[in-house]
Amino acid sequence: MKQFFRIVFLLALPLVICSCGRQEPQRVQSVGTAMGTVIQQNIYTQGEDCTGDIMELIDGLEEQTLSWRLETSELYRVNQAAGNDYGVELTEESAQVLRQCLELTEDSEGAFDIAIGPTARLWDIDGWASGQRQGEFQPPSQDDLEQALALCGSDRLRLQTDVDPEGGSEVTLLYSEAGTALDLGAVGKGLALTHILEYLEGNPDITGATVSVGGSVLTYGVKPDAGPWRVGITDPADSARNLGILSLEGQWCVSTSGDYERFVEAGGVRYHHILDPATGYPADSGLSAVTVVTKDGLLSDALSTACFVLGREKGMKLAKQYGAEALFVDKSGEIIMTPGMEPLFQAVQ
Ligand code: AMP
Ligand code: MG
Repeated sequence: MKQFFRIVFLLALPLVICSCGRQEPQRVQSVGTAMGTVIQQNIYTQGEDCTGDIMELIDGLEEQTLSWRLETSELYRVNQAAGNDYGVELTEESAQVLRQCLELTEDSEGAFDIAIGPTARLWDIDGWASGQRQGEFQPPSQDDLEQALALCGSDRLRLQTDVDPEGGSEVTLLYSEAGTALDLGAVGKGLALTHILEYLEGNPDITGATVSVGGSVLTYGVKPDAGPWRVGITDPADSARNLGILSLEGQWCVSTSGDYERFVEAGGVRYHHILDPATGYPADSGLSAVTVVTKDGLLSDALSTACFVLGREKGMKLAKQYGAEALFVDKSGEIIMTPGMEPLFQAVQ
């Protein structure tokens, strides 16, 4: 008998030693603002609170890469260089982002287009919605809209990748016609999720997390109770409540584009921030929101914007083409989903 207990003790010893070295993950939470939107973090870690690092990472991405306003950003430099003969050299990551965006422009027949800058600036829905612009909002005149639209469209861009014959490294140059301006508002939050995911994967103390950057949410790892992550889908008719909940296991990116996110109202009309490049007006495709679930953040964010502009039928086709799950809410409140979304979604009664 003694012998038996000795064996059990010896077998259990490594387990005891291992679990002494590893604490139970603690939950750290934070709510802040960055990239002009709300950042909510919910992180399970066996180490230190890393929510400050993640805020810095998002701020850095905005300052160094994405902002069309800040002179420090790559996008600012790219827009300043529009019309020059020698193009502008891109970082490897930006070249890859632009390639993906151009592919999606083609696949969405122009419904998604990051070269929408001049029209987006003319409307400046973000400025009105955030209260930065005061006074009486008026939609732009048809003349102004036509002038802005003439400067939009990815057909005014050309990417050229050359391989350095000596070093073998690739250099990508962007050429754009004078007056062109890129706007990465439709993909920036998703790209932030990609950077956050890289950070989480590089930190072995972190066992699970959900991080939401505006309308895009990253789920990662496992919950201590081993249940699925639960991501709320906002009801576009009443943005204070949820329409339903998505249950997701492991790592996913969930992006929503909706007419309730940023808008200004005038004369009983809601002018929202997602524009139809074909008309220059806020997209009027019969939808009030689209949610897309994919592994990749940039893709979920880009697809949700594209599907919103395309509407239900064409949007569904595009989502399927990219192997993404999608949920469409039309203006009457009807919900339409890809078959793969159905088991993930539960409506709130
Ligand atoms: P999201 O909220 O991700 O759907 O992105 C909307 C933002 O993307 C807007 O605030 C604009 O900055 C930009 N945008 C608006 N319309 C389009 C469009 N058709 N294609 C690409 N970007 C757009
Ligand atoms: Mg988007």
